[in-house]
Order: sequence, then structure tokens, then C-alpha cells
Amino acid sequence: MKEVKFLDLAALHATIRTDLDIAYRRVMDAGWFITGEELEAFEQEFAAYSKVRHCIGVANGLDALHLILRGYDIGAGDEVIVPANTFIATWLAVSQAGATPVPVEPEAGTYNLNPSRVEEKITSRTRAIMAVHLYGQMANMPALREIADRRGLCLIEDAAQAHGAQGHGRTAGGVGDAAGFSFYPGKNLGALGDGGAVTTNDAELAEKIRLLRNYGSREKYHHEVSGYNSRLDEMQAAFLRVKLQYLEQWNVQRRAQAAVYTQALSGKQGLFLPIVPEWAVPVWHLYVVRTRQRDSLQAWLREAGIQTQIHYPIPPHLQGAYRDAGIAAEGTLPVSEEIHREVLSLPLGVHLTPEQQQYVIDRILAWNGA
Ligand SMILES: *Cc1c(COP(=O)(O)O)cnc(C)c1O
Repeated sequence: MKEVKFLDLAALHATIRTDLDIAYRRVMDAGWFITGEELEAFEQEFAAYSKVRHCIGVANGLDALHLILRGYDIGAGDEVIVPANTFIATWLAVSQAGATPVPVEPEAGTYNLNPSRVEEKITSRTRAIMAVHLYGQMANMPALREIADRRGLCLIEDAAQAHGAQGHGRTAGGVGDAAGFSFYPGKNLGALGDGGAVTTNDAELAEKIRLLRNYGSREKYHHEVSGYNSRLDEMQAAFLRVKLQYLEQWNVQRRAQAAVYTQALSGKQGLFLPIVPEWAVPVWHLYVVRTRQRDSLQAWLREAGIQTQIHYPIPPHLQGAYRDAGIAAEGTLPVSEEIHREVLSLPLGVHLTPEQQQYVIDRILAWNGA
């Protein structure tokens, strides 16, 4: 039986192994592991790639989002608009800051925050809108910007799945007031461990986050504010510098694979394919199809040796972490709940060969569960 992996990081890293080995040796021989030259260089390189002025490396994507909220003094008593359908980290960043996440339903077509449903959730306590560029496709930022400006709110990007994504001619990470990125290994740009970054054009916020990530300290043993230990270490920064050089090429490859899926699967009865507005250039962190018979399709592909995943099986408001928080009861976010019952992510990425992708397509076309 054939085996098609959903993700294969060992195969990906095998293609750049020499570069990674050199990076590892360089850091080990330098003998400097926290906040050094590799981090500084990566921050500049990633800011340039994302077309934004400042980049601050932090320990992970959740911290990046949390530190942005701290940097804007958003906390107890405040509310932050978040998508109802997202990875739970978006909500947890708000909760960790002491604020309350206020979910808004997505557009059924793009799965991203629906701007026309944001205003009904804004109250006198609302301080920010945190938009997620889900699956690597940007949210409708100009529409959200207009609301944020008119209502005096910060606009924050959760860009954890969107390194290099474009929308309305602009690149993820420099469109909102600040953005949080994750370099979790499976992301389009992933470390060989945990990592994250904040990007912003706001020099004052950048300075605050530099303090907050490093014990509130600019000068060793002088602590101006009560900070955190949330740094992107030298080894991960060095690996990320290597992988950043390939990111555009990898994203181009993902786009080509997504186009192949869309071309081959359009017209398949009962299967809904991703909808891309004409202003969006996604980076396809995930290629997500939708069907009422999701579990049947997943089982069918599993029997053919094809791995798929579900992003995500349970929405945040129905997780144990939020079920009793009084934010949203079951049934009150029907668009999101339906999406969670129907989505399925197909294998995609540099590891996937054209033959494997054709095999996935053939098996889906042969499926008659829809
Ligand atoms: C991965 C992810 C995060 C969190 O990133 P970590 O590095 O795992 O902390 C936040 N938001 C979204 C949408 C993500 O996909």
C-alpha cells in the first residue's frame, strides 16, 4: 500500500541538511546562545521579508500575541474581538493578558473573520480586533482597518499561519498595528523547536516588547517593568535564517500544489474547495476541503494510506478551557460549529511528490460518499 504523509519535516530538512549543519556548528562554536548576533540578523531578515520595520523574536507564537496585548496595556476588564474559528492560541493570548476574548463568526467561504459581523460585538470595553489569517490566507484587513479606526481600536494580526501571505497588495505582518508569528516546526516557516516573533511598524511598541521578552530589562540586572522570559534562542534563529532563504520557493511550490488540487477536484459532488478572493495571495499553510461526510472521506483516504488532519475538530468555545467561561454557549456560533464538523486538510508541502498528489486526487475522485 502507498503511504502519503500529511507532513514530513525529516524529508524537508534532508533537502537543506548541509546548511542546517553549518548553522548548528556556527552557534555551537560561537558559544553564545541567547539574544546574540543570530537573533539580530534573523530579526532584520524576517522584517525585510515581511515588509515591516521591526521584528522582535520571542519564544513562540502564543507569547508573541500575548506580548502585543501587554505592550498595548490591554488586560483586565478589556475585551478583544477574535474569530470564533481559530486555533485556541488566539483566544488564550487574550485570556493570558487578563482580557476577555469576544468571538465573531467567520465568512462561510473563506473561514476568516467576517467584517460585517464585528461591529455588533463592539462594546465600551473593546480595545482591539485580533484577526487570524487562517490556513495562510489573509483576512479582509482594509475592511477591519476601517472599523478599527472608526471605533478607536488596535488591529492585531495573528499571522502564525501566514508567513509571506499577501492581501490587497500588502504582506502579512505589516498590515495591522502589530502581528504575531509562530515558528512552530509545522508552520510554513518553522524552527527545529519552538519560536515566534512580533512584527510592527510602531517603534514604541517594538521597544516595549524588547523589554517585556527579556525580564523587563534593557541593561543586565536593571528591570524597568515586570517582564517575561520569552526569547528566540540563537540556535533556532540560525536555523530560521537558513529556512527563510527557502521560504518563498516553498510557498510558490505550495501555491502550485493548491492550484493542482483546485483544478482537479472542482466539480466533485459534495466537496467544497477553498475560496480565494481576487485580492488574496495565500501561502496555503493548509489546503482545507469541506464536506458533510467528512469522517467518511477521512476514513476512505486513511484506508488508501493517505494521512489527513482536521483543523480543527472542536471550536475554542466548546473546549474545556472555555466551555464554562460564559463566553459562548453551544449552538450560539453555528457557522463556526458547522465548519468544525466538515473541514478536512489534505497533504500539501515540499515533501509531497506529484505522483503522490495525483494518487490523493484519484482516491478523492473515486470516493462516492458525498
Ligand atoms: C500555531 C498557531 C499559534 C500559536 O503558535 P505557537 O508557536 O504554537 O505558540 C497561534 N495562532 C494560530 C492561528 C496558530 O496556528
